[in-house]
Amino acid sequence: MGALDEFACAKLDQAEERALRRSLADTAATGPGQRVVRDGRALISFCSNDYLGLAQHPALKAAAKQAIDEHGAGAGASRLVTGNHPLYRTLEAKLAALKQTEAAIVFGSGYLTNVGVIPALVGPGDVILADELSHSCLMSGARLSGARLVLFRHNDVDELRALLNAHRSDGRHCLIVTEGVFSMDGDLAPLAEIAEVAKTHDAWLMTDDAHGFGVPGGGRGSAAEAGVKPDVQMGTLSKAVGSYGGYVCASRAVIDLLVSRARSLIYATALPPSAVAAAIAGVDLIASDPTLCARPLAHARAFARALDLPAPQSSIVPLILGRPEDALDASRVLEDEGFLVVAIRPPTVPEGTARLRFSFAADHAIEDVLRLSDVVARRILKSR
Ligand SMILES: *Cc1c(COP(=O)(O)O)cnc(C)c1O
Repeated sequence: MGALDEFACAKLDQAEERALRRSLADTAATGPGQRVVRDGRALISFCSNDYLGLAQHPALKAAAKQAIDEHGAGAGASRLVTGNHPLYRTLEAKLAALKQTEAAIVFGSGYLTNVGVIPALVGPGDVILADELSHSCLMSGARLSGARLVLFRHNDVDELRALLNAHRSDGRHCLIVTEGVFSMDGDLAPLAEIAEVAKTHDAWLMTDDAHGFGVPGGGRGSAAEAGVKPDVQMGTLSKAVGSYGGYVCASRAVIDLLVSRARSLIYATALPPSAVAAAIAGVDLIASDPTLCARPLAHARAFARALDLPAPQSSIVPLILGRPEDALDASRVLEDEGFLVVAIRPPTVPEGTARLRFSFAADHAIEDVLRLSDVVARRILKSR
């Protein structure tokens, strides 16, 4: 064994001991209703981010197939070279219209969006204030920018205000970063208050609505729900929209700046035309069907009500169990009963808060939601 293999094995052993080793399990979606086959077993998934079931929607599948037939399988180059397929213009116009911003720009993924956008807007000599629970790719983008990064306690607007009073003058520019709907907790950011604080302290506000677009605000997302207009609204096309990619909605000037400066846009290959075409179909459904967008929250609320949990604000319901081993055990119990709910462990969530993260979708059957709550009550909550 070479030195690198020894290093890898030692690291893996350490993770294994703490029940933090991760592995990939083959999981094939088998149609609507969040049905999957994992390791040969048919399960109903309650851990996908395909909140509206659009990844399996006939309109998205047809749009993707047609784009492949007409334009091929891959884009071949960056958008700045020859990858800027005309379908992008349609998608970006629809995103800007839905978010009521002047313009929008699509990136290769949500992750690429955040690592590209933040360094394009701030740099050394500037300050970023970020909610401590912000997604890994927001943190990566913030570090990559070279700006000073200061974290505020989760959703704590008083602390944000105090930190701005202390640190705003250290930086030329100041960017406040938060998620609209928090990915592992399902709670919403107090965006109306944060936007007010941003304004009074001459700071720019960027929201990550990866888990908001398609559900709150009648599907328009968390900023619409709060009635505010952040300077930069990013999100993904890979979750509720049912396809793949990331986007930013902002003013025309900001979008033009990103085209000239965001390295993950300039130096990465454009999306395959099929992903852009499917995203157009997904955004059309979100824009035209508020009933569809309301269903994930209705399912989450039915589940929470059955278990006497606090009323959810989004399609995500966490059940915090504490130790990674407990989360893994609970996940195995549910798999026994035909449900796929993956255990979420540190460092995805803070130490001591390993959990099951249930996510509810428009195409779940209510009978399955209620059977799940029954199993959780009998086999997980009762034994604790
Ligand atoms: C999933 C996620 C992303 C990344 O989006 P992808 O399109 O999957 O790369 C960014 N931010 C948050 C909060 C997310 O949950």
